[in-house]
Amino acid sequence: MTADNLFLRIARGELPADIVYRDELVTAFRDIDPQAPVHVLIVPNHHVASIAEAGPDDEPVLGRLFLAARSVAEQEGLAEGGYRLIVNCGAHGGQEVEHLHLHLLGGEPLGPMRCRRKEH
Ligand code: AMP
Repeated sequence: MTADNLFLRIARGELPADIVYRDELVTAFRDIDPQAPVHVLIVPNHHVASIAEAGPDDEPVLGRLFLAARSVAEQEGLAEGGYRLIVNCGAHGGQEVEHLHLHLLGGEPLGPMRCRRKEH
């Protein structure tokens, strides 16, 4: 399996993940290597390689990613304390998995910028 289709397969229910939200457009699941007490990824249910590849037809799913992130944040108890949403794009953006994903991070003060806690 390539990294490219990993998140698509999770969204389709073909691979296991700790899913916290799902609707007809997007799926949210816990990051396997959390960088904060709450670290959830929200992904489209159809293939969009990155935000750089998104087109006008993807506008509904792009909006849904943010609304789903808000719902998950409320579900996870982050609404009061606040949280951070991140989209990495391409090599310089640090995108590792070539399926568009929104990171939801929270559960503690995140500081001005977030770095990985450990090297892979
Ligand atoms: P990015 O660097 O923005 O592409 O983020 C990719 C994220 O996917 C990283 O935070 C990884 O820890 C996470 N990740 C990779 N494989 C899995 C998986 N099978 N289940 C959940 N999260 C994953």
